[in-house]
Amino acid sequence: PSSARYRGRFAPTPSGPLHFGSLVAAVGSYLDARAAQGQWLVRIEDIDPPRCPQGAASTILRQLETFGLAWDEAVMWQHARGEAYQHALEQLLKLGLAYPCSCSRKQWQGHDIYPGWCRNGVCDPTKPVAWRLRSDRGEHPVRWHDRLLGEQQLDPVTLGDVVLKRKDGLWAYQLAVIVDDAEQQITDVVRGVDLLDNTPWQCQLQSALQLPRPCYLHLPLIVTAEGQKLSKQNLAPALATDDHGVRLQLFQALQALDQAPPKALGDEPPSTQLHWAVANWSPAQLRPTAHRLTPA
Ligand code: GLU
Repeated sequence: PSSARYRGRFAPTPSGPLHFGSLVAAVGSYLDARAAQGQWLVRIEDIDPPRCPQGAASTILRQLETFGLAWDEAVMWQHARGEAYQHALEQLLKLGLAYPCSCSRKQWQGHDIYPGWCRNGVCDPTKPVAWRLRSDRGEHPVRWHDRLLGEQQLDPVTLGDVVLKRKDGLWAYQLAVIVDDAEQQITDVVRGVDLLDNTPWQCQLQSALQLPRPCYLHLPLIVTAEGQKLSKQNLAPALATDDHGVRLQLFQALQALDQAPPKALGDEPPSTQLHWAVANWSPAQLRPTAHRLTPA
């Protein structure tokens, strides 16, 4: 972990209640923060209202409480952060690192990534525009260190000019996440490895806006017994609300994080399990391979 006073966060998108995979990310970031005697913050990434059903955010907060994951400071809500994102976008425009794009996905189908046609002026000034990052102007490839996966290198140019603000006016994840990680002075990002590919854009944006780059730790993916990523589509089991289920799932989360909790701990309430897990937190025990959920 970083040497500065540790500040970690859990940043769920409230597109539905937490499932086991997101619980593992929450527990992993919580333990890493608490073991470093740091702060652990929660940020609700509700920038895309059509994808976020009413009540999902409060369900998530209740789930965190049920599992004993108490956060510090007030919850940050991204829906209220538009001004800060706009300010960041304007800075990028001044630096020549962002541009408006009128192309529709249909126009560039057949290409793996958006080919950058609007980089030197919008193709069709009569159409609404999205705003994209000029990935070729920043550092590329981007090199960074992942605390679990080691040295990483990825070239944002091969990933494309990511959207920062959508045509419908909604903010995109890449911009919002770096603006808010900086605002909350996050020193350590612990999240699922499914987000690993986003890191190079985020590093480019941090450099462009002269924001500090946090330390990264990408946690192994949790997959079903059949090897599929847990998601709403493949009916990831809902998190329990009853005492017994909560104890069991928290225990399974510690197992998924390779912390080898003693068997008797599974009968204990969340506070006892978390107390043990903070005292014994050992990220070195994490294995970078996907963790297969065995049906209970
Ligand atoms: N909101 C993102 C998600 O739920 C996570 C963002 C992050 O941890 O960087 O997938």
